[in-house]
Amino acid sequence: MPEMKTYEGGCHCGAVRYQVETDLAKVVSCNCSNCSKRGLLLNFVMPDRFTLLSGDTDLVDYRFNKKVIEHLFCPSCGIESFARGRKPDGTAMIAINVRCLDGIDLAMLQTIPVDGASS
Ligand SMILES: [Zn+2]
Repeated sequence: MPEMKTYEGGCHCGAVRYQVETDLAKVVSCNCSNCSKRGLLLNFVMPDRFTLLSGDTDLVDYRFNKKVIEHLFCPSCGIESFARGRKPDGTAMIAINVRCLDGIDLAMLQTIPVDGASS
């Protein structure tokens, strides 16, 4: 049973750092063109569970397809450590790149395949 924990994470060079409270119960492996190229493993949280500690003014916003998701990457190291988006009903969501969390054992995570390429 996954437990609620506070994780810290960020980009590779350390410019972007954040804190997030999540249980990592659902980690999504999406096959859309952006996720598959970047190897993103995503966990979605409500914005009030997410605190950006540093790097806010540095982030570069990349958008494609419907352009509703802000794929935010660090201009120094190129890592997309999180994204800002909305659910179909308009609720704001944060997508955490689980690979960017400190001390995560990726082999212990169960990932859920999502067919983003067809949607
Ligand atoms: Zn960086």
